[in-house]
Amino acid sequence: KVKAQTPSYQSVIDAAYEKFKDLKEGKNADYIKELATVDPNIFGIVLVTADGKVYTKGDITSKVSIQSVSKVFTRAKVIEDQGAKAVQDKIGVDATGMRFNSVIAVEVQKGKEINPLVNPGAIASTSLIAGTDSATKWKNIVQIQSDFAGRQLSINQPVYVSEAGDNMHNQALAVLLLSYGRMYFDPREATDIYTKQCALNVDAKDLATMAATLANGGVNPVTKKTVVSPETVAHTLPVMCTAGLYDDSGIWLYNAGIPAKSGVGGGLLAVCPGKFGIAVVSPPLDAAGNSVKAQRVIEYVVEQLKVNPYLVV
Ligand code: GLU
Repeated sequence: KVKAQTPSYQSVIDAAYEKFKDLKEGKNADYIKELATVDPNIFGIVLVTADGKVYTKGDITSKVSIQSVSKVFTRAKVIEDQGAKAVQDKIGVDATGMRFNSVIAVEVQKGKEINPLVNPGAIASTSLIAGTDSATKWKNIVQIQSDFAGRQLSINQPVYVSEAGDNMHNQALAVLLLSYGRMYFDPREATDIYTKQCALNVDAKDLATMAATLANGGVNPVTKKTVVSPETVAHTLPVMCTAGLYDDSGIWLYNAGIPAKSGVGGGLLAVCPGKFGIAVVSPPLDAAGNSVKAQRVIEYVVEQLKVNPYLVV
C-alpha cells in the first residue's frame, strides 16, 4: 500500500509554534524563588536529527536552568561507569508514583527502589558519580552534561544561590537515604552538587542536542563525540518512559508514546530513537510540574510525523 507522505520536520515545528504560541495556561515554578522571575513568554522549539541536522523555531537563545532534565544524564554517566546492574541495585529503576520530592517514597521502601528521575534517586545518582571529593564530582557532572549538549555548559548563579539557601527538604531526603545505607557520599555535599547541576543553563538547542545524542545511540550527532554506549542509552530511555514527567508520566506516554524528561525550569526533551531528539522551552508549568506548551507541541509533532512507536501504519 502507498503510505501517505509525512510533512517535513521544519513545517511541522513551524505549525506547532503557530498553533500553541498563544496558549496562556500554566505558571512558572515559584518554590525556587528565582524561577518565578524568568520570562514566561520564552518559547522555543528545536529538533535535532540522529544525523545532526538542526531545525529551529522561536526563541532558541534564551537560557533556562536545566533542573530535573539533568537527572537523565548524570544517571546515564553512572550507568556508563558502573553498569546498569549496579544502578539498579544501588538506586532502583522503578517509578514510585509519588511527588518528585516525596519523603514517603523513600520511607515506604526503606530507601530501595527509589525513582531515579526524581529528587531522592537523582541525589543518589550524584553521590555515585566518580570522584572522591565534591570538586571532582562536579567537574565530571559538568563534563557529561556538556558532552550531551555539545558545548560547555555553565551555571546560572542566581538560580543556584536561590535554591541552595532553601533546599533543606532535599538535604533531608539525602540524609534519610544515608540512614538506609543508600547514599554514597556526604549527603549535604551530594545535595549541593545536585543543586548546582540543576542550575546549569540551557536553551532549546542544548536540550534537543542532548535528546538527539540519546536518539543516536549515545553519539552526539552534532559534535560526533561518543558520549555513552548504546547499552547505556537502552537503560536510560525506558526510565524516561515510566518516570520522565513526574506524576503525569503515564498520561504522557499514553498521549505521546515516546521517552521524555521535563524540568521545573520549563524545559522538556523527548527522544525518538534512531530518528531525532526534540526539545521545547516554555516556563509556565501545569499542576504536575510539566511545561504546558512543551507537552502540547511535542505531542502534536509526534502525531504529525507519525513517529509514535506504537503506531503501525
Ligand atoms: N532543583 C529542583 C529541586 O530539587 C529540581 C526539580 C525538578 O525539576 O523536578 O527541587
